[in-house]
Amino acid sequence: YGPAPESATEALAWIADRPVIGHFINGRFTAPEGEMAEVVNPATDAVLTRVGLGTVAEVDAAVQAARAAFPKWAALPGHDRARYLYALARHVQKRERFLSVLETLDNGKTIRESRDIDVPLVARHFYHHAGWAELMADEFPGHSALGVCGQIIPWNFPLLMLAWKVAPALAAGNTVVLKPADLTPLTAYAFAEICAEIGLPPGVLNIVNGDGATGALIAGHEGVAKVAFTGSTEVGRVIRRQIAGSGKKLSLELGGKSPFIVFEDADLDAAVEGVVDAIWFNQGEVCCAGSRILVQEGVAPRFFDRLRKRMETLRIGDPLDKTMDVGAVVSRKQLARIHGLLAQAEAEGATLHRAPVQMPAQGAFCAPGFLTGTAPAHTVSQTEIFGPVATTLTFRTPDEAITLANDTRYGLAASVWSQNIDRAIEVAAKVKAGVVWINATNIFDAGAPFGGYRESGYGREGGRAGMREYLAAPARPGKPRPDPA
Ligand code: NAD
Repeated sequence: YGPAPESATEALAWIADRPVIGHFINGRFTAPEGEMAEVVNPATDAVLTRVGLGTVAEVDAAVQAARAAFPKWAALPGHDRARYLYALARHVQKRERFLSVLETLDNGKTIRESRDIDVPLVARHFYHHAGWAELMADEFPGHSALGVCGQIIPWNFPLLMLAWKVAPALAAGNTVVLKPADLTPLTAYAFAEICAEIGLPPGVLNIVNGDGATGALIAGHEGVAKVAFTGSTEVGRVIRRQIAGSGKKLSLELGGKSPFIVFEDADLDAAVEGVVDAIWFNQGEVCCAGSRILVQEGVAPRFFDRLRKRMETLRIGDPLDKTMDVGAVVSRKQLARIHGLLAQAEAEGATLHRAPVQMPAQGAFCAPGFLTGTAPAHTVSQTEIFGPVATTLTFRTPDEAITLANDTRYGLAASVWSQNIDRAIEVAAKVKAGVVWINATNIFDAGAPFGGYRESGYGREGGRAGMREYLAAPARPGKPRPDPA
């Protein structure tokens, strides 16, 4: 497609000025010492820049800087830490347009989403947690910060996942070593520049770029008191094993296969719009995506018909074009993984319904769709596709819906669609998921705790519960707590 819109000029110039993305350690931007990986715009296949893969020495320098900064940062009165968090929130808002374009170039998500959802929520997270910093002494008397937090985040919401991790950690008085995903390092780097601009004390937030090996160095570093991870269940398991017995606090936000339950008495048009937000939003690269649609038998044909019609109206293409509904998936590799799972579903007997959309000639684009004829035992019913395609099943009774909904190793989220609110609440209470929406889906707020059951992880992010993940409870009399620093 044609030249980038004018709104992208600033972000493209920023990238051109940074042919190498290094690290942010002790308040300074450092050139990478180790290997580098390419950072690609998945919508055009263009190489944007290169990113350093953090080495043992770089991770160690970041942890040492965070340790050195910890005592002073933790000892600041809450309202002083709050001032920094407010400043970060304001600067993110001031740079909203730039950060949105940067995120879209890096990840492939639509500009409508990065501008209207991701970046505003980032600012909201820092504002909200500034409030917690102010209230620390009242709300968590006797609690103390943990020390250095090692935070490892994925590529699906790069800046928002940074905010979910960094805001509560800093509000509570911890210092941080954060590793973005190597596919999407740009907005975290821009955020580091904002930290430098507002004068965040050196060492309070350190960013070491890199891949899984760098992540393992951070999780395993003996100077790290807490590990917070968002990503795949498989890597979550590896990290849990790696740090077992170390005494480090751990929170894991992992995968999901979240049920989207539609009853006969649901407002079907609203439920169809719900599917748009559940599985086509962010190309389905959402851990809590409503990726298993369960429909009551009597309305199933009508519902699938409406879904097909709605799917035909979706626009897929240049993510910088603000009229697009679906952008590119994060990489060619991820696209191949999605296609592999869809081929397997068809081999197992499922029928794939794809939107008859015109696909862009280049880039990692994946047509939105849904599968019918899937059985609970099919691979695709149990495995996270992490793409814009949902599986479907039908049920007869509410009990059957609950059984199907819980027939998964995950338990991150669910949504229930019914105009009978008693039924909706009853079913919601029986579905084993950390978040359950009723007649809604994929709604997030900094004040609402988010997190999973079973293989979707443990620990919560957001609100009071999220703050607790970054605090040590008061020591019981006669049992002094070891000094984390
Ligand atoms: P991943 O779990 O491999 O990567 C997530 C983060 O962990 C990245 O920053 C990565 O560099 C880091 N990492 C990888 N191995 C590590 C290790 N051994 N120790 C410490 N850190 C490590 O996810 P991915 O490869 O980017 O995607 C694979 C699949 O994971 C996707 O297809 C999807 O199903 C799932 N996923 C889930 C989420 C989510 O939010 N739940 C996010 C991204 C991907």
